[in-house]
Amino acid sequence: TTFSDLGLNEILLRALEREGYNTPTPVQAQAIPALLQGRDLLGVAQTGTGKTAAFALPILHRLLADKRRPAPNTARALILAPTRELAAQIADSFRSYGHFFRPSVGVIVGGVSHRPQNEMLARGLDVLVATPGRLLDHLGSGRLRLAATEVLVLDEADHMLDLGFIVPIRQIVAKLPKQRQTLLFSATMPREISSLADDMLRDPTKVSV
Ligand code: AMP
Repeated sequence: TTFSDLGLNEILLRALEREGYNTPTPVQAQAIPALLQGRDLLGVAQTGTGKTAAFALPILHRLLADKRRPAPNTARALILAPTRELAAQIADSFRSYGHFFRPSVGVIVGGVSHRPQNEMLARGLDVLVATPGRLLDHLGSGRLRLAATEVLVLDEADHMLDLGFIVPIRQIVAKLPKQRQTLLFSATMPREISSLADDMLRDPTKVSV
């Protein structure tokens, strides 16, 4: 299989070539076709498997297929990650794969001042990568609305459970439209995560690597 066989936009294929990616990893080969069809996904995959590109590429493909500008104080895709470091890495991946069309990608994490985040949110984002706590602050203050968000990704869900983020995640998910695409990735599947997946995912494709 090649990335081109998977049906990805030419503009993304050029970026992958630039990154030196020749062949999709197993999680990419299994997840990308289902995600391009709009399916939900439950992915059991560790870091190092290429899971970031497995979710980022279909999201970028969607943005390219429908180049609406995001409205102020909204985000078209929301990625929730457990830590600031992971959030920053995910955003970097989106920027690399989006190199040839420059989607707007923002990061919202705690421990830094609010004002630059407020200004970024005011412009609206194609892709927002966030940790749950600070995201809830912005939802509470009305600086972010998620009623038009098209795709939600929960990355490293088991790690989020360990950090006590299940209630915040459920509060965030309650603000999203029911009609959306949802992806959940976790290295392990403790009971709390499978029940979160049952509540959040609709007829998901299951990928395990
Ligand atoms: P991840 O599991 O998403 O953290 O990715 C692990 C590493 O693999 C990252 O450094 C990616 O840049 C790299 N990577 C992801 N997919 C591919 C691919 N298809 N070919 C080569 N490297 C890749």
